[in-house]
Amino acid sequence: MSNINTLLQLFSELSKEEKQKFLASLSAKVPSIPTEFTSETREEYLTKLRFSKQLICPHCGNTHIVKNGTHKGQQRYLCKSCKKTFCVTTKSLMAYTKQDLSTWYKYINCMMNKMPLRQTARECGISLKTSFDWRHKILDALQQMANSVKLDGIVEADETFFRLSFKGNHKKSKTFTMPRKSYKRGVKGNKIKKRGLSKDQVCVPSAVNRNGLSFAKISNLGKPNLMDIKNVLDKRIEENSVLVTDKNYSYKIFSELNSLDLVQIRAKKRTEGIFNIQHINNYHGKLKEFIRSRHGVATKYLNNYIVWNNLVNYSKGSFEEKEVIFRDFVTSVNTYTKCKTLPHRNPIPVLRRS
Ligand SMILES: [Zn+2]
Repeated sequence: MSNINTLLQLFSELSKEEKQKFLASLSAKVPSIPTEFTSETREEYLTKLRFSKQLICPHCGNTHIVKNGTHKGQQRYLCKSCKKTFCVTTKSLMAYTKQDLSTWYKYINCMMNKMPLRQTARECGISLKTSFDWRHKILDALQQMANSVKLDGIVEADETFFRLSFKGNHKKSKTFTMPRKSYKRGVKGNKIKKRGLSKDQVCVPSAVNRNGLSFAKISNLGKPNLMDIKNVLDKRIEENSVLVTDKNYSYKIFSELNSLDLVQIRAKKRTEGIFNIQHINNYHGKLKEFIRSRHGVATKYLNNYIVWNNLVNYSKGSFEEKEVIFRDFVTSVNTYTKCKTLPHRNPIPVLRRS
């Protein structure tokens, strides 16, 4: 016992980051989920997670479902509404996968640990391509979860910017042409001297509250206007919440349109009574660091990295709690991403073309 007490005391003295790191190192070694599933226990387990309340047709969402025999030992269902059949993995992330459920859970653990693709592939015994496909299938799906977020209480909002990046859009590609000349790092005269906001800057309006809820998305290139802020944040904040922003006129109009109480903080002044914009600044700091740690992210995947960051780095809860939420989500969500479409994604996914 005394050993444990000592350990607990030492643990309590760690910083928040050190604690997370420590817990992450533990859970990376001790998977908490059964390592082996038989085909029966797998089906039972998936059914429990995916159709916990009732059977829902993954094609049309209807609940008038009847059993429709079995195929290769797996229960099939028939939707009385759309007349299509399905099984427990239809339209799920696990559809068409030969990989075991435990491999998926190992993969989630790697994502919780923000592990690079190559290392993740090694850990899970999957190919680099599968590692890449899974990451974006999962994050595409996670965007569905992000889309249901509604912030309340004291909400801080501001925008942040990322340099436009065409990383991964191959020169050899027949479908992609570079919209501008590529920058050569360190070449004299090539350095961007432009100050302020050029059209090379991807604008990401963001909002966070004090309970760890966050929402952010690419809106446009360069400086945002009211429409850009609306495109991302409209109806994402509960009415009568307090919106804290800097002195930007667009947010004033935005708060009126969304029935929010507005507190605006003058430049160079960090607080206004009990209100401040430290949480949103902190959020942007973490997001930037996360993107930097990936050595830059292609703009076409930036929204995916934002939701990843929001879950792992910003939302409240312990590492373990979040991992369980993430795992259950991945097991039960409907996916709409086809792997073969990933490389053809719009290189600049802005909501406004200027
Ligand atoms: Zn249906």
